[in-house]
Amino acid sequence: MISSIDDAVEALYDLNVGVIGHGADRHERPHKPTMLLAVLDLIATGAATPDRIRWSEELRSRFSVYFALVRSHNDQCTPENPFLYLRQDKFWEPLRLQIDGPVPLQSTPTAGDAAGGMVFAKLVGGLETFVLSAPNRLSLRLAIVSRYFPRLRAALLPRFADGGEAPAEEIPSVKESADMLHGRSPAFRRKILEIYDCQCTACGLRIRMPEVNDLTFVDAAHLIPFEVEPNDNPTNGIALCKNHHWAMDRFLIAPCPAADGSGIWRASRKLKGRRSRGEEELLLLDGEPVLPPVEEAFKPDPRSLRWRCERLAA
Ligand SMILES: [Zn+2]
Repeated sequence: MISSIDDAVEALYDLNVGVIGHGADRHERPHKPTMLLAVLDLIATGAATPDRIRWSEELRSRFSVYFALVRSHNDQCTPENPFLYLRQDKFWEPLRLQIDGPVPLQSTPTAGDAAGGMVFAKLVGGLETFVLSAPNRLSLRLAIVSRYFPRLRAALLPRFADGGEAPAEEIPSVKESADMLHGRSPAFRRKILEIYDCQCTACGLRIRMPEVNDLTFVDAAHLIPFEVEPNDNPTNGIALCKNHHWAMDRFLIAPCPAADGSGIWRASRKLKGRRSRGEEELLLLDGEPVLPPVEEAFKPDPRSLRWRCERLAA
């Protein structure tokens, strides 16, 4: 149950988006987050209410505005899919009006249904409360952008219907965005630990104790820090044990892009192996692979690796 805006942000971070494609084309589907951006706009302009989001031409065309910006690889503009399948995410109920009243929608709606006006969706599970005010809508949109489309922030933010004509200074700064998204940290952490199966990408250490409150020794670490770029996409994170997290945060070690698209660890020349065992062990990491995630679609973004690599203490 969503009972605060933080819960709502967390729910949007955890969308069941699915992963498609093979090899270099493997990526998360953008359809569900795109549909939610369109829905928030329709609610903002009064064209929809949380209990009556019509499957309409207006919704389809709003979806395609965002989709044209976010689509990649071989993504197809199919708004009917997220309209139905968002039902997996617990806060979305798609319905079809019949003579005796609404019944659950059984299949993806058609273009003809959009003209008929009998198909609609309701926000449920508590989310319906948090889409009514402009500040909350902004938090939800920022959550969607930070998690799914961080690189498109500059293109997407000016298009939100609440701030459609807003001058640039009304678009929230990176700092303001971070302040609005308290629910993001636990969701980012959960995703990173899941895709690395709680294993440190430097030393391979894995301590996970499900019976002790799901205790784990491994942290979720951002490659480019959120305060530098609001980017909670899993390709901007890696799992690290406490020691390697500490060393990476101080730029004593850095995961760097390798020629084959994977990652390789580099150690700073500031480290002196003869001074201590600890420094010697960090130096031994130099040239070792960055252990990959379980799911290839989430392997570290080379651009994020480069950010770390360029800052390795010389
Ligand atoms: Zn480690």
